[in-house]
Amino acid sequence: MKHKIAIIGCGVVGASIAYELSRIPGLEITIVEQNTPASGSTGAALGVLMGVISHKTKSRAWRLRETSLKRYQTLLPELEALTGITIPVNRQGIVKLLFPGDRLDKWQQLQQTRHNQGWQLEIWDKAYLHQQCPYIDRDDIIAAVYSPQDRQIHPSRLTEALVAGAKKNGVNCQFGVKVEQFIIKSSNHSNLQTCSHLETTNGELAVDWPIVSAGLGSTPLTSSLQQSVDIRPVLGQALKFKLERNLGNEDFQPVITGDDIHIVPLGDRQYWLGATVEFPNEEGEVNAQAELLTQIKQQAIDFCPPLADAKIEKTWFGKRPRPQGQPAPIIGKLNGYSNVLLATGHYRNGVLLAPATAQAIQNLVTQ
Ligand SMILES: Cc1cc2nc3c(=O)[nH]c(=O)nc-3n(C[C@H](O)[C@H](O)[C@H](O)COP(=O)(O)OP(=O)(O)OC[C@H]3O[C@@H](n4cnc5c(N)ncnc54)[C@H](O)[C@@H]3O)c2cc1C
Repeated sequence: MKHKIAIIGCGVVGASIAYELSRIPGLEITIVEQNTPASGSTGAALGVLMGVISHKTKSRAWRLRETSLKRYQTLLPELEALTGITIPVNRQGIVKLLFPGDRLDKWQQLQQTRHNQGWQLEIWDKAYLHQQCPYIDRDDIIAAVYSPQDRQIHPSRLTEALVAGAKKNGVNCQFGVKVEQFIIKSSNHSNLQTCSHLETTNGELAVDWPIVSAGLGSTPLTSSLQQSVDIRPVLGQALKFKLERNLGNEDFQPVITGDDIHIVPLGDRQYWLGATVEFPNEEGEVNAQAELLTQIKQQAIDFCPPLADAKIEKTWFGKRPRPQGQPAPIIGKLNGYSNVLLATGHYRNGVLLAPATAQAIQNLVTQ
């Protein structure tokens, strides 16, 4: 008999799990999404993969990053070939600007560590930065770090391709359907409880492995199991703008990161800029503050003066799912249950960590 998998939530994480599991024979997979794919945090994301350039060098945090970086190398061509969907990817790397207070010695150490791990980082002095990115201009820039192997991927298009690939491989998609609660069967053999069905707005769904990849929706879902996973929203605002001409050299359009702000080239003189980091109040509520978006735009103009002439085409915000009291992301079995799996709380790095999360879930399901 086929194992029944139900994936709750179709952001980049749920879609990655659905696609990765769809490659394994003998599984009957359903993905349930209350709205449309990528309508949560994923639809607001900039898709910058801060992998090699992150300061994580050891244990789980680096393992997840490295697994994702490697899987993306094969996943993107595999999905494009399977679905015919072009996934916009920037393969020109990330340039991170360093300002007074940034420890150059720490970056040199990281460069050595990455070299030992088989990855590349370059440290550029100001003159070389000016040669490569002449549009960057702030007196107090001390240097830059260039990460040629990091990428930026369009999050919604990636999710669309993952869903299309999963469907081609036989995954059943129920969109516009909400999971309302878990139906639990008590076990006689252990203290663990088992979820046998999901109650959805479309009726009951029998399940062997329910996988919660519902982002912020994971908290209300798990609280119905008396095992609440506490995930809070951290709001991010971003904008899209257009310039008279592309910044700098047409052939070299990397992502620029300075002061924790990304300038993301999209081609055809268009760019994304973001994102703010806005924490919730004690009640867990957070509303977008217009002045913070103005502030990051000004900060970006301070190191990239041509942005002063940018024509803003669109602004938006999203809410990142951030776990309370434990590191992001949460991947593994829900305490007290034999079969409820969590793949949630990816906070600022869900696009980066989606492939590694899918592989970790695959290991749990196939063990
Ligand atoms: C402005 C901004 C910029 C960002 N930039 C980056 C970046 O550059 N790089 C990066 O890696 N990450 C970035 N992130 C973070 C990234 O967006 C998240 O980490 C990631 O999208 C989380 O994906 P997810 O699939 O877990 O959650 P989501 O995308 O939120 O998906 C969860 C889905 O579950 C569904 N759902 C919830 N409850 C239920 C239910 N009961 N039944 C059915 N469906 C349900 C929701 O409708 C939703 O579609 C950014 C986020 C923001 C807001």
